[in-house]
This record gives sequence, structure tokens and C-alpha cells, in this order.
Amino acid sequence: MELIDVVVIGAGQAGLTASYHLQRSGTDHVLLDRGTGPGGAWRDRWPSLRLGGVHGIHSLPGSALPATDGARPASEVVSEYFGRYEQELELPVLRPVKVDAVRDGGERLVVESSAGTWAARAVINATGTWENPFWPHYPGQHLFTGRQLHTADYRGPEEFRGQHVVVVGGGISAVEHLLEISEVAGTTWVTRRPPHFTDAAFTPEDGRAAVAEVERRVREGLPPGSVVSATGLPNSPAVIAARESGVLDRLPMFQRITAGGVAWDDGSEQRADAILWATGFRPAIAHLAPLNLRGPGGGIRLDGTRAVREPRLHLVGYGPSASTIGANRAGRAAAREVRALLRAGDQDWL
Ligand code: FAD
Repeated sequence: MELIDVVVIGAGQAGLTASYHLQRSGTDHVLLDRGTGPGGAWRDRWPSLRLGGVHGIHSLPGSALPATDGARPASEVVSEYFGRYEQELELPVLRPVKVDAVRDGGERLVVESSAGTWAARAVINATGTWENPFWPHYPGQHLFTGRQLHTADYRGPEEFRGQHVVVVGGGISAVEHLLEISEVAGTTWVTRRPPHFTDAAFTPEDGRAAVAEVERRVREGLPPGSVVSATGLPNSPAVIAARESGVLDRLPMFQRITAGGVAWDDGSEQRADAILWATGFRPAIAHLAPLNLRGPGGGIRLDGTRAVREPRLHLVGYGPSASTIGANRAGRAAAREVRALLRAGDQDWL
């Protein structure tokens, strides 16, 4: 077991930001990342997700995201950028290292991983959501003889050429999948609630309101919900064209899945070769289960980024900070609080 001041788990935007600030203050730490290379979750996003097609990626602290061709896959651009950042700043990243459990070891938190165990005075958890895709359950799901996949498995439209795909989910990912797949295959779109298309530009006030609502939820110990999904579906030229051609005509959620497709209670059915679940993600925090952080509301209560039940643990890129700009702010705040915690601990020894 190695003794260390701080372990940061996850080297996406949130973990790199925390590490940047810890390093600037000379704080002894290590950054453990299960990825096989740099880029955080961006590394695994589908190749047809172009840089020009995402909402906007905030730069990491101290080094601007280089201007580049918007037609390049976001996964490539961000992985290169993060890789250079880690190298140039000499951040203490170890990978691939998967953290399996964080436990209360008395004076320290014990971090068990595929590369050994660390005993840390504080832990900053920055593991994002990508590793925990959310799959709803519907009757008959196991009967379906076609393919079921999640946004996390989607690699682009080509593999569906000539097929019929049911896309489930009311968010931006679902719309992007439909725009692409409908070029080569038949599609059906189902959502629980009618989608909300908007002409209004997403303003900073909208962003602050969305963040404030998720902040309220985590303060009260409720499951966080998504900041990014609070934006509505922007009426881009591609979306307007798809709405006019009927690609974005939406059906209500089906009631069950059959061997050959999906079915509604009114007797209607849709044949399908594949069901694509664009149903979002949940925080990837199974390794924190031994700390028993969840309260009666089903979520983890936070005060800022600090877990109320375990003040040596901070969650960044979680809930209100699950966006690139939120991850930057949370990473900085967590690093600052952890330094204060360590200083207070050092004084106890004097
Ligand atoms: P991630 O980038 O997910 O990084 C987490 C890291 O932790 C990964 O490297 C992972 O391998 C590692 N990890 C996970 N579990 C473990 C473990 N047990 N042990 C060790 N390592 C582990 N935000 C925006 O601001 N603008 C956008 O345009 C935008 N588009 C998005 C599009 C999609 C499809 C999705 C899903 C999200 C989007 N977001 C966007 C949200 C944004 O990507 C993230 O909130 C942001 O990048 C912060 O990332 P993060 O550091 O929290 O997590």
C-alpha cells in the first residue's frame, strides 16, 4: 500500500483540471485513469460526432483548445489535446488503472485499483458517466432477435444500411443518431415525452438556471439529473430539414418489445432490425459504494463538490458540474478545498 496525499480518479476534463490545480500548489497526488489513452469519455464517442457538431468544449485551464477543422471527429481532437496537456504539464497520470473500490480506512481513504492500493488523505472522484449507460427495462426485451445497443456502443450509421432502426430517447444524442441513420436506413423515433424543439439560442442565463436546478438536487441528496439535457433541441438547419421530411416525427413510447420489433397497446407494431437506446447515462460511481454515501433521497448529498457524509471525498464532473465548463470550475474548487483540508490536518500534528 502506497501513502499519498491525494488520489484523483479519472482523467477527463474534471480530473485533469483538479490535477492541474493540485500540481500548481505542489500537492502530492496521482491521477488514476482506466482509459487506454488520453481523452476521457471523448475518446470513446462515435467517430461521426464532429467537433463542429457538439455544443462547445471549454478549454482546460492554462492551455486553449487549439483552433482546428470542425469536421474532424471530436474524439480525435480532444484526445490529442488532452494527451499534449498531460505531457506538457507532466501531470502524474497512471493508465490504464481501474479503481475498483474506495473504502474508509480510518485516518485515510483506501483506494483499491488494478495497479495496487493507495492510502490517501483525500480523494477527488472524476469518473464521469460514460462507463454507466442507462438502459430502461421494457417487457419482452429478452425476446428481441435483432440487435440492441446504447449510444455508448454507437459507432456511426453504416452498419445499419438497409435496415430499420428504432431510436429511443428524447435528447440531442437521439436526434443526432436519427439524422445520421435516416440517410442509410429506415428509422422510427420514440420518446416518453414530446420533444421540445427551440429556436431560441441557449443563453448563459439558461445555463445558470439548469445548473442551479441540478445543484439544488444534489444539495438535497437527490439523484442529480442532467445539466446537458436541460438545453432543449436546437432547431439547426439539419433538424429543420429532418422535421420537414418526417424523420423527426415522434411516436410515444412502445409498451413492449417483441421478437421482431416493438408494439403499442393500441395494437400497432413496428418491425425493427435494431433498437438504439439513446437513453442517457448515470454517474459511474460503483467503486464508491463501500463508503455508503447514498442517503434516503437516493443520491449523494454534496456541499459544493464535497460529499457531506465523507468530507475527504469530492465529486467533480458530477451533477451540476457534468459539462466541460462545470468540470473546470468543480476541479478548481475541489483542489482548493482539498489543499485546505490537508493544511488543517498538517497543523493538527504541530
Ligand atoms: P469523462 O470525460 O467521462 O472522464 C472520466 C474518466 O474517468 C474517463 O477517462 C474514464 O476512463 C475514467 N474512469 C471512469 N471510471 C473509472 C474507474 N473506476 N477507475 C479509473 N478511471 C475511471 N459537455 C459540454 O460542455 N459540451 C458538449 O458539447 C458536450 N457534449 C456531450 C456529448 C455527449 C454524447 C455526452 C455523453 C456528454 C457531453 N458533454 C458535453 C458532457 C461532457 O462531456 C462531460 O460532462 C465533461 O467532459 C466532463 O467530463 P468528466 O471529466 O467528468 O468525465
